[in-house]
Amino acid sequence: MARSDVIVLGAGIVGTSVALHLVKRGLSVALVDRGGAGEGTSYGNAGIIEGNTVFPAAFPSDWATLLRIALKRSPLANYHLKFLPKVAPWLVAFRAASQPARLVETAQLMRPLFARAVAEHDALSLESGAAKYLRRTGWLKLYRTEAAFAGLARERDLAASHGIANVTLDRDAARALEPSLQPVFRHAVHWTGAVSVSNPLALTRAYAARFAALGGLSFVGDARTLHRAHPYWRVDTASGPLDAGDVVVALGPWLPDVLEPLGVKLPLAVKRGYHRHFRPRNGNQGNAALARPVLDAENGYCLAPMEQGIRLTTGVEFAARDAPPTPVQFDRLMPAARELFALGEAVEAQPWLGARPCFPDSRPVIGRAPGRDGVWLACGHAHWGLTLGPATGRLLAEMMTGAAPYCDPKPYAAERFFQ
Ligand SMILES: Cc1cc2nc3c(=O)[nH]c(=O)nc-3n(C[C@H](O)[C@H](O)[C@H](O)COP(=O)(O)OP(=O)(O)OC[C@H]3O[C@@H](n4cnc5c(N)ncnc54)[C@H](O)[C@@H]3O)c2cc1C
Repeated sequence: MARSDVIVLGAGIVGTSVALHLVKRGLSVALVDRGGAGEGTSYGNAGIIEGNTVFPAAFPSDWATLLRIALKRSPLANYHLKFLPKVAPWLVAFRAASQPARLVETAQLMRPLFARAVAEHDALSLESGAAKYLRRTGWLKLYRTEAAFAGLARERDLAASHGIANVTLDRDAARALEPSLQPVFRHAVHWTGAVSVSNPLALTRAYAARFAALGGLSFVGDARTLHRAHPYWRVDTASGPLDAGDVVVALGPWLPDVLEPLGVKLPLAVKRGYHRHFRPRNGNQGNAALARPVLDAENGYCLAPMEQGIRLTTGVEFAARDAPPTPVQFDRLMPAARELFALGEAVEAQPWLGARPCFPDSRPVIGRAPGRDGVWLACGHAHWGLTLGPATGRLLAEMMTGAAPYCDPKPYAAERFFQ
């Protein structure tokens, strides 16, 4: 029987960061995953450490956008019709949280986490020998219409009040930064303080290797075996049972698989998303290239330069987490993407599918599981799990060890769903 102070369930960017922060504070920690570190959702994101985030992604407020989504013509979102009744209560809550005043409130409540995002990655990547994966070139959001660009005014005002750096560029200035972009857009905003990652899997693996170097132990096991073995929590692994006084559930979209059998139901839904890598096409002036991720705002996809090629990530899909892939958004967006950038052949035969774990108020849960002694949660990071993994790890480790947390953790408490 192996025993440690803490078992962390889930070795995505969030769980791995929590485990590393705990081991740095002198606790004995076991990190359990059914696969390798970083191979879940954390594998496939656009690689943006988006400390610049102001407003969360919101429910569309104009009927034209909604109608296009409903008619399955929009690249921004797709849905499985038979899944809609199941996700409807979540969508209603998400829509309520997308009212302008609530978005401002969310921006304020999330700021302490986003403000630490880059600094906490810097600290972990430096000690993990992973700084080579971080690019300090910001990221670029492109707007094809005047209306879409005009819609940014409130966000940019709020960004200014928080000192979040961004620069408005016209088409020529944006193309001076990224010469391979075709002039199919009118405006761009360069969020200069964002950092991007050239290989998110390698980054999580580097944090896991640092965890091991500091004495942390990794196990292959099924988190669903979590049960009480008084006075401990026990998980069965390939190397035998593991006991600990505290357990952290950091299972991303798989959170309910472990939490609901314990009698705790949180309003987690998934926004599925796809990616596919493309080789840049050769042109007269050499290979097309990107120095930073680029978002085509009206089409909802991102082009992110990765070690594997140009990673095109899609908008969201509302469907059951485990339903078969339906990557129809590629058909809707590829003409726009090819018009913007010289994408060559696809690297993989099939797109990758992941599931962003999302609460309707776009805030994660970081803290104790209500009514379950010794169970802690670090989950629901939605579009920002890569961004917030290390900032979450530090906050939760401070809470668990009784240190002064670097920010007020109350906005991230699970109890908010029971008030
Ligand atoms: C297309 C796309 C683009 C994105 N772009 C960005 C971006 O640019 N920037 C950003 O910050 N975020 C981005 N995200 C979001 C980000 O990827 C996620 O929020 C983040 O990866 C969640 O991390 P996690 O550690 O919570 O979950 P995961 O990485 O999914 O980790 C959960 C782990 O739990 C393990 N697990 C599950 N069930 C069990 C079980 N029964 N037993 C044992 N282990 C189990 C899994 O194997 C997995 O390793 C994007 C997401 C998608 C889908």
